[in-house]
Amino acid sequence: MNSRIWLSSPHMGGNELKYIHEAFDTNWIAPLGPNVTGFEDDLKQFLNTQKEVGALASGTAAIHLGLILAGVTAGDEVICQSMTFSASANPILYQGATPVFIDSEPETWNMCPNHLEAAIKDRIAKGKKPKAIIPVHLYGMPAKIDEIVAIANKYEIAIIEDAAESLGSTYKGQNCGTFGEYAALSFNGNKIITTSGGGAIVCNDDEAKKKAIFLATQARDNAPHYQHSEIGYNYRMSNIVAGIGRGQMEVLEKHIGLRRDMNAFYKEIFKDVEAVTVFEEPNDDYFSNHWLSCITVDESKANFTREELRLALWEDNIESRPLWKPMHLQPIFEKYPYYGTNVCENLFNTGLCLPSGSNLTTQEKERIAQLIASFLA
Ligand SMILES: *Cc1c(COP(=O)(O)O)cnc(C)c1O
Repeated sequence: MNSRIWLSSPHMGGNELKYIHEAFDTNWIAPLGPNVTGFEDDLKQFLNTQKEVGALASGTAAIHLGLILAGVTAGDEVICQSMTFSASANPILYQGATPVFIDSEPETWNMCPNHLEAAIKDRIAKGKKPKAIIPVHLYGMPAKIDEIVAIANKYEIAIIEDAAESLGSTYKGQNCGTFGEYAALSFNGNKIITTSGGGAIVCNDDEAKKKAIFLATQARDNAPHYQHSEIGYNYRMSNIVAGIGRGQMEVLEKHIGLRRDMNAFYKEIFKDVEAVTVFEEPNDDYFSNHWLSCITVDESKANFTREELRLALWEDNIESRPLWKPMHLQPIFEKYPYYGTNVCENLFNTGLCLPSGSNLTTQEKERIAQLIASFLA
């Protein structure tokens, strides 16, 4: 059996252990310390922003804290992109709020601004203005974020930007993760950089960051004993984990280049296959980190289905996966309102994510290219 080729796997840069050793040598084995501060500074600098970054235990925690800080409480409504990972939507339910799901547009696969505005108008007409909007930059592709921001401003609704997959992506030169009132980054095991597990919240200013970190460290009031007047969470990143993050920041730019090379690799493979479209930026305003490279198969033009291609890859131990199954089609979320048509449902039915890691070897790439060539022939 050939060895497994993963969709996306951790790719260490080399200096991660150095930062972890420093943590051990100085006994900073805690959810605070020089690596946490250093990692936050690195992220802030990379994002090229005046905003503040707080390192957390996960991207999901960042979305949850963003919702709390935006004032979302039980009974509120929160608008969320339907086509995404469930972690975008779960925190809405943690707050006892109701998700309202929005279809994608076909260019970036992200939240459709038209359906967004229609949904806001309809929810207001029904008696409740949504409290927050969660757009996502899927697979690293920036959403139509300036249209979404304009709508959010018009109706004065906060944006919690889910940038978990889009560290290093930009729209009109501005980094994903800096558009929303709050934004979430993720460093889970399969993301473009990883700390094994971890995330960060991006906040507008130091005051907002302080509030986020207060909530993330059990909401301890300023007193000599343990005193609490708010519900707290254990959401802070540890200084060990942050050491991995500092090492990964040294190779982030390189890894973005390698992920983008994978996208070019698939464009070459499928260049003469009319039925297959490799997902790419609609125009020069968009720069994707191409965290995952994806294709859609037009089954009216193809003599194969997406599923047949997926299974052929799997038989050679090459992992690929259908696109995110929309939330409004998930058993746990199907009872909530949905605005749109079937754009994201069609993407789910015809799309496939292909191996995209920055650590794929020349031999592994050859195996993928050969397998696909013989499948197509
Ligand atoms: C990974 C991911 C998250 C969650 O991040 P974790 O760090 O795994 O909690 C949220 N949203 C999207 C779109 C993701 O891909």
